[in-house]
Amino acid sequence: MSIFDSIRFVKDNKYIYKILINGKWLESSTKKTFEIKSPADGSLIAEAQKASKRDAGKTVKAAFNAKTKIANMDASERGKILDKMGNLLEEHKDEFINVICRESGKTIKLAQGEVHASIERLHYASDEAKEIRGEFIKGDIAGKRNSMGMVVRQPLGVLLAITPFNYPLFTGIAKIAPGIAVGNSIVVKPASADPICLLMFGRIMQEAGLPDGVLNIITGSSSEIGDYLCSHPQIDMISFTGSSEVGKHIASIAGMKKLHLELGGKAPAIVLEDCNLDIAVKEVATGSLKFSGQRCDSISRVLVVESIANNFVKGILKEVENWKFGDPRKPENVIGPLINEAAAKRVEELVSDAIKKGAKLLYGGKRYEHGYFEPTVLDFVNRDMKIAWEETFGPVITIIRVKDYEEAIELANESEYGLDACIFTKDIDKAFDAAQRIEAGSVHINAHPTHGLGMFPFGGDESSGVGREGIKYSIEDMSKVHVMVLHSHKE
Ligand code: NAP
Ligand code: MG
Repeated sequence: MSIFDSIRFVKDNKYIYKILINGKWLESSTKKTFEIKSPADGSLIAEAQKASKRDAGKTVKAAFNAKTKIANMDASERGKILDKMGNLLEEHKDEFINVICRESGKTIKLAQGEVHASIERLHYASDEAKEIRGEFIKGDIAGKRNSMGMVVRQPLGVLLAITPFNYPLFTGIAKIAPGIAVGNSIVVKPASADPICLLMFGRIMQEAGLPDGVLNIITGSSSEIGDYLCSHPQIDMISFTGSSEVGKHIASIAGMKKLHLELGGKAPAIVLEDCNLDIAVKEVATGSLKFSGQRCDSISRVLVVESIANNFVKGILKEVENWKFGDPRKPENVIGPLINEAAAKRVEELVSDAIKKGAKLLYGGKRYEHGYFEPTVLDFVNRDMKIAWEETFGPVITIIRVKDYEEAIELANESEYGLDACIFTKDIDKAFDAAQRIEAGSVHINAHPTHGLGMFPFGGDESSGVGREGIKYSIEDMSKVHVMVLHSHKE
């Protein structure tokens, strides 16, 4: 017996996962399913429901009807439920780690990190639920001494959370936890490549005592239910994390809904002559290669000044040897496969386009069966190459040699993306100057971009999105300002 028995059944020796609508675990109305395959070896892991528009309609209705239930629940109660979710996730963490490894191709260590961050995020959200404050405004600031306003934050209503494959549990929780903390009901649509861990989390929510209908989870093809959900009039806000292409499409059909879009990135790392070279090398390698570069905040352009470029490249070639590549289920491997073969072919295309146009392949560069792509070092990349501008989402250290600091800043800002950036230097004035001038949601000094739990606000501009996520910031994004004004007629 497992608490997850109710969310799946066995057919032909494999699990078929159900969807969660109004507290009930159901099959799709058409009984259609789709396959979830292991990125590590292409084998079938399980199947999930291919929900229809009818199912999607029922899901939104359930969330809509549960709106007042969660909005009227005391913040202290919402906080208790969130804490309980954190405790239950901790209790079942090994099952979650195992599933994340299998469906996303992560190493155990990376999956452990993701589950741990998810647990912490839930506990932070519990505290946040009790910290939602308003303000009091005196009318005399505009000559109305007898009027006074109380500004409070109210939930928006129904939140649609759409998550990407790369952090299949954490991105879901980073939306669900603050969404509930502030009192919204939610429809979640996980990425089709690895939806199991979020479905399992649905069960954790139930065990924690979240009322039926407050959280609903629906799986299925985005072409069938994606547009339907994103344009549904009863959805008040869409919190989407995924590619810029899909994010822009969603923005075009969402109408008047509030939007939070966490999209793609092309983070530059500026490496200056006076940096601590050991730190820069280690951080650039980690920032570029962790989870095979399948992170929106991964470093995907290294802008290194010519005078130290040879030394820097020497260091990188030594460091990259430590990034053992292969089956993620083997503990000695640090980098596993990309999410699927198509993703690896895309990286291969970007690398061969760069080589054709004169880049030097110094390490790796080879694609293998399934989604495996070797850690790769490309030097002498220039602006004519696609890899200088397009999101790589693969394990490539892309080195662009620049004349000086000013050229680095100019190139950093030339991108259509503006999510993350970093700079390596000991010169405080240059670091401060770069931190202000680089057009990105966050600029990290002497470390690769990381966001962990969301203790620093996270998000980008231009093609990288709209809005900011994070502790406190998500709460602001997922709530609205409401004002009550008292007018006194006493002379
Ligand atoms: P994706 O292909 O854009 O998919 C993201 C989600 O959107 C999936 O759940 C997908 O469902 C769904 N979707 C696709 N078309 C839709 C539509 N018309 N309506 C509604 N939903 C739709 O992204 P991905 O490949 O999973 O993830 C990688 C991308 O995410 C990268 O670009 C990365 O930079 C970005 N990302 C950004 C952040 C950030 O915080 N800024 C964090 C992580 C990842 P299906 O899976 O069913 O197609
Ligand atoms: Mg995709």
